[in-house]
Amino acid sequence: MKSSFYQYSFESLRKYLADFGCRADQARLLFNWHYKKNKTTPCEINGLSAYTKKIIYSSLSFDLPVMDHVQISEDLTVKFLFSFQDGKKVETVLIPFNQKYTVCLSSQVGCAMNCAFCYTGTQGLTRSLKTEEIVGQFLAAQTWLTLNRPDDDRILNVVFMGQGEPLHNFDNVKTAVEIMLSQNGLSLADHKITISTSGYLPGLLRWKNEMPSVNIALSLHSPIDEKRSQLIPINRKYPLKDVIPLIEEFPQGKKRFVTYEYLLIRDFNDSEEDALQTAKLLEGTKAFVNLIPFNPFPGTKWQRPTDEKVQKFHQIIESYRIPVTIRTTKGDQILAACGQLKSSERNDAKTAL
Ligand code: SF4
Repeated sequence: MKSSFYQYSFESLRKYLADFGCRADQARLLFNWHYKKNKTTPCEINGLSAYTKKIIYSSLSFDLPVMDHVQISEDLTVKFLFSFQDGKKVETVLIPFNQKYTVCLSSQVGCAMNCAFCYTGTQGLTRSLKTEEIVGQFLAAQTWLTLNRPDDDRILNVVFMGQGEPLHNFDNVKTAVEIMLSQNGLSLADHKITISTSGYLPGLLRWKNEMPSVNIALSLHSPIDEKRSQLIPINRKYPLKDVIPLIEEFPQGKKRFVTYEYLLIRDFNDSEEDALQTAKLLEGTKAFVNLIPFNPFPGTKWQRPTDEKVQKFHQIIESYRIPVTIRTTKGDQILAACGQLKSSERNDAKTAL
């Protein structure tokens, strides 16, 4: 059975081809063609030797995830349902901003973290995605963009905020990030990639020495352990007192922050006292606080806070000189907003293929 081309970092592809005796420049030609030019047909590459072609055609596959379904929101957010070879599916979201795009990637089918506010968490974990399935989401979304919105710019930002806990799938996420950063690959800037975590400590312990220098976002959602544990059950095992000091140690470039995501839920964690405790917890750290008014999904007991409460919360955090923003919700019409992704098809918005 053929293995996927998209599972290889640049270095591992070089080694793979070298083991077959291919010339040293062949990996660069292949990486350029597939990632910079976003092509899936290696036969046309100038300079690719007949021997390398024979090797790659007989041993590698260039298949991307199959696009089962596309939904487009009125604000032009696009949600894809991709399926993989074993029939498992994930959702991926393209979020537009001034004709540029952020892609929100999934890292697992379902998720083991079981966060109380999260649609994905209701599924449990089916399996982690392979590197090629993560990179494949990016490439397939980029291909759709080129075909359907040719005047728009390319994908500039990547966030690992789709289905799954990325650090629970550390190795495959890391290799996907290496491919995205590679000068021979997608060539994204490191500050354009953000990995969001619920605070999965085993992954955070590996991050410092192993993960390339990309942004990190922590799902905070409450500074109070008792409340946070209700929202994010792994907080009981890996509490904030262990997680935050570790994250603050991560190497960061100039002007780089740690993003703390705070999902505001009506009458649960949106009070002035919650805001004050959050500000005190993060005062003096490299925090950038992102306030996200809750996006309801079918069956949830939680509700969106009032605008007044959101503004007051923002004001209190800001008064401690902590950078803070209120995230504009995009894509909630098609359940493409944070915490709303799930691996099943729905027909609740405009559909196109
Ligand atoms: S919020 Fe993230 S970590 Fe928590 S259950 Fe949902 S996908 Fe998993």
